[in-house]
Amino acid sequence: MDKERTYPSLEGGRLLPLVESFYTIQGEGFHTGKPAYFIRLGGCDVGCRWCDSKESWNPDRFPPVEIEEIVRQAAATPAKAIVITGGEPMNYPLDMLCNLLKDYGLEIFLETSGSSPMSGKFDWICLSPKRNKPPRDEFFPVADELKVIVETPEDFEWAEENRQKVLEAQRCGQCLFFLQPEWSRMKQISTAIVEYVKEHPNWNISVQTHKFLRIP
Ligand code: SF4
Repeated sequence: MDKERTYPSLEGGRLLPLVESFYTIQGEGFHTGKPAYFIRLGGCDVGCRWCDSKESWNPDRFPPVEIEEIVRQAAATPAKAIVITGGEPMNYPLDMLCNLLKDYGLEIFLETSGSSPMSGKFDWICLSPKRNKPPRDEFFPVADELKVIVETPEDFEWAEENRQKVLEAQRCGQCLFFLQPEWSRMKQISTAIVEYVKEHPNWNISVQTHKFLRIP
């Protein structure tokens, strides 16, 4: 995607369509339990049917906000870590936002499907591949965490396909591998995930603990 052509009003990333930002606890993946300030950007062209942030899909609903304001609000909290999520945050040029967050000494974690060109610098990249729009090749070498959402047992094959791509792309193999039950299918799929991970111990299980805790 040509970001400048598609989002000419964003001034190269000085402005970004902000859905919401809030200080909470990271509920899933490797950083589960860690306090973090979430920056949720609007706009996603992937279209997962079980998406739990569908309200974020249409970027036109979210007027662009100056990144200075976004970062000022983040820095006003005790948060030491920032989670940039969406929507699909890689739909936007994030270099300016990341540079500004770094000026404040904040750690930056990215949640992405990897379906749009990479921009920005991150301390941790959680790649969560989606069948509708698979990750671009540039994300496999840099993923710190591969988190695959499992809705049916067929998704184990999809998970292994992506794990293989990570293994082929990473010489030092730093990536961690997580299977996460799709929330609305938790009862139906959790036993299968537990058994799969016991049989394939290179995987770990991630659950959306924030939903159990009823926090954002
Ligand atoms: S990539 Fe993420 S935000 Fe986009 S539709 Fe899928 S789950 Fe929702």
